[in-house]
Amino acid sequence: MQDEKLIPLSALQHYAFCPRQCALIHNEQVWAENWLTAQGKVLHQRVDRGEPETRKGIRYERGVLVSAEWLGITGKLDLVEIELSTGNMKPVEYKRGKPKRDSWDRIQLCAQGLCLEEMQGRPVRSGALWYWQVRHRDDVEFTEQLRDETRSVIAGVRDLLTSGHTPKAAYEKKCDSCSLYDLCNPKLSGNDLSAGYVDALFDEENRQ
Ligand code: SF4
Repeated sequence: MQDEKLIPLSALQHYAFCPRQCALIHNEQVWAENWLTAQGKVLHQRVDRGEPETRKGIRYERGVLVSAEWLGITGKLDLVEIELSTGNMKPVEYKRGKPKRDSWDRIQLCAQGLCLEEMQGRPVRSGALWYWQVRHRDDVEFTEQLRDETRSVIAGVRDLLTSGHTPKAAYEKKCDSCSLYDLCNPKLSGNDLSAGYVDALFDEENRQ
């Protein structure tokens, strides 16, 4: 893994939302801001600005840079809580919205925990998600199942990014909130028959 390009933690989130969005951003360097991404950015900037502090035996480190060579992941963690008596670490990720039914937020958090584990050489057993809209904190245990799921998502993102392939657009409800909507044009691209037309032309040529 050491000679491969490290995957940014943010790519996991983009992949979770839409593999095409992930490929557009990380392979094709396409980016556009909408109010949702702008709000998320402001929240993370606010979190990053906080100074490190210690309260009731816990050290709070903000904007922590991580780079895990074997896992193949790099990124910046919103917050790491360190219990001074044991040295145990807990990543905390701030989210703009509210808890979701799917496990994507937990997977992103677990990837952070795996990065810390690799870098510090000690187990990181849990983390927490803090949801801004509902002011709610969810503690998340890094079970074997969540770890396996996280490693397989990381492998999926790596395959996508090393393939250089950008999946075709397929319009879904979530596209309406996608910052790349205008650049992706999912309604048009999804119905784009030109690829099939070109394939048919080549087939014809091969038959001649
Ligand atoms: S508009 Fe839809 S298909 Fe296109 S990148 Fe966004 S979520 Fe994916």
